[in-house]
Amino acid sequence: MKNLRNALLLKQLYQLKQLGYSYTNITPYKEDEPTLVLPNTFDALKKQAENCHLCQLSKSRQKVVFGEGNLEADILFVGEGPGASEDSIGKPFVGRSGELLTKMIENVLHLKREDVYITNIVKCRPPNNSTPTPTQAHTCQPYLLKQIEIIKPKLIVTLGATAYQYLTGDETSISKIRGTLHQQNEYTLIPTYHPSFLLRNPSAKKEVFEDLKKVKELM
Ligand code: URA
Repeated sequence: MKNLRNALLLKQLYQLKQLGYSYTNITPYKEDEPTLVLPNTFDALKKQAENCHLCQLSKSRQKVVFGEGNLEADILFVGEGPGASEDSIGKPFVGRSGELLTKMIENVLHLKREDVYITNIVKCRPPNNSTPTPTQAHTCQPYLLKQIEIIKPKLIVTLGATAYQYLTGDETSISKIRGTLHQQNEYTLIPTYHPSFLLRNPSAKKEVFEDLKKVKELM
């Protein structure tokens, strides 16, 4: 059986030789896994993000919205992605939902907006405010992970389903998971509703109030 297989293989090789093929032992070109090596200083990281063209969003953005706030903050807020106002100004949460977020920080946590750090899952505006695709979110994720590594927050508050799901990989619905505490290696994560959801559903503000009270207790 083995001899027959070898004979057939040899026949095929002779046929290929007749067609002009010759034997080489060159290994085909294979690109190394692309690795996104990111700097360890915040300014250099920001600069790299501002020049990033790794995904489609870079083509339609006006400004990269890297994040804003205290680099030594205990609390990091993570939203979904910049909207139109953020895209034109280059700062996170400056539109209507930003106003509400600022009020939540000031009135419930009794902090100034400048005391915390605010960023997003994706740093460039998704066209028409669409939800970032998995590719866009995963391409941008190293920037967020590096921000977390440098800032070292004690608490991360994810705003809305997208931020929670892309940061944790958990697809539990936001209405079930909000207000629960998740102990990660270096920080505690607490998901809550997105301010733009609250603008559409003001009755959910009381739940966010409860979630932020937990944040205050943990501080
Ligand atoms: N919504 C977000 O998720 N992020 C912003 O920066 C603004 C609105």
